[in-house]
Amino acid sequence: MRAARSTPSSVPPALLALLALAADGCCAFSSCPYEGPTRAPFVDGRFYNQVPSARHSIGDLLRFFTQREQPEWQDVTDAVPGPPPPERVGEGGLRVTFVGHSTVLLQLDGLNLLADPIWSDRAGPVEWAGQRRHRPPGLRFEDLPPIDAVLVSHNHYDHLDVATLQRLQDEHHPVFYTGLGNAAFLRREGVWDVLELDWWDEVRLARGVRLTFVPAQHFSGRGLCDQGATLWGGFVVEGPAGVVYFAGDTGLGPHFTQIRERFGAPRLAVLPIGSFQPRWFMSVVHMGPDDAVEAHRRLDAQATVAIHFGTFGLADDGQEEPVELLGEALAEAGVSSGTFRVLAEGEGWDVPPLPGASVIEAPASDMVPEPDSAL
Ligand code: ZN
Ligand code: ZN
Repeated sequence: MRAARSTPSSVPPALLALLALAADGCCAFSSCPYEGPTRAPFVDGRFYNQVPSARHSIGDLLRFFTQREQPEWQDVTDAVPGPPPPERVGEGGLRVTFVGHSTVLLQLDGLNLLADPIWSDRAGPVEWAGQRRHRPPGLRFEDLPPIDAVLVSHNHYDHLDVATLQRLQDEHHPVFYTGLGNAAFLRREGVWDVLELDWWDEVRLARGVRLTFVPAQHFSGRGLCDQGATLWGGFVVEGPAGVVYFAGDTGLGPHFTQIRERFGAPRLAVLPIGSFQPRWFMSVVHMGPDDAVEAHRRLDAQATVAIHFGTFGLADDGQEEPVELLGEALAEAGVSSGTFRVLAEGEGWDVPPLPGASVIEAPASDMVPEPDSAL
């Protein structure tokens, strides 16, 4: 339920965003330049998408920031945190908990993985700038089960939140997996146990469980000077529980078909549906609801859960617009809302097993995390 209106800011959000970028001063918050070689397209210190035209010009950026028509979002003040998730699920089991925005807890095969965690009040370079959250995280940080690995899809502030990563390191001691170029920045921030990956790089999380960094159609940058300097992507986890795909931030691109062909149909896909307006600017890098339904179809996912909506007003979407339009797009495509689900913040879902698969209730002893170098 929506309650109090947000306090109007005396500084327009677009200007705040520009100030935040400018405050970067070309290094303070930026990533260090990455130096190849890479599998992902990488030219003169910048990463590019598989589709070369899928990028914004400086003119596009200026037009977006100066012509924004951002609807007002309201604050959710009466949200009740979800119940603590189980400590672990057994081999073959798969549970997803939607914390909010793109933060999801994935529990499978005795492992607990946390994707794009942000518990901070703002997604920005400093506490006073950046988009503030309009609803609290759906799960109390202290209710998290032991976290074995953290997956960071890219370095935008709403996905790579330094304060949250530092707290996870202090309290859970996980391994952090992310795209090329992010390790130096994270270590500079005191987050040490980082393994950075190129597209299609694989690592072993535990015996029988493998993690692959996969392409996305997006971009990166925390300041004006590090645009495209680090790699963005998604993650695929393969194990006895099946294939789980976390897409991160992405536009609709050829990678969905590539992922389907390489890994088979996911048991669970986690796909973004928001920050999609205005379409002329966002469609290249952020899927809207109709794109997400098409991605679900290309993946042939058995189940999909929606992310990237409802917490931060990053684009010109209305607060409820992605979820409302997703309902329409699913109805039009004949996809059940029980198959492509919108979970409430804090809601957990035990994803049904694949046909013929069995689930062992107790966690398997050999599924303890066993981080390994790239295979
Ligand atoms: Zn992003
Ligand atoms: Zn994002």
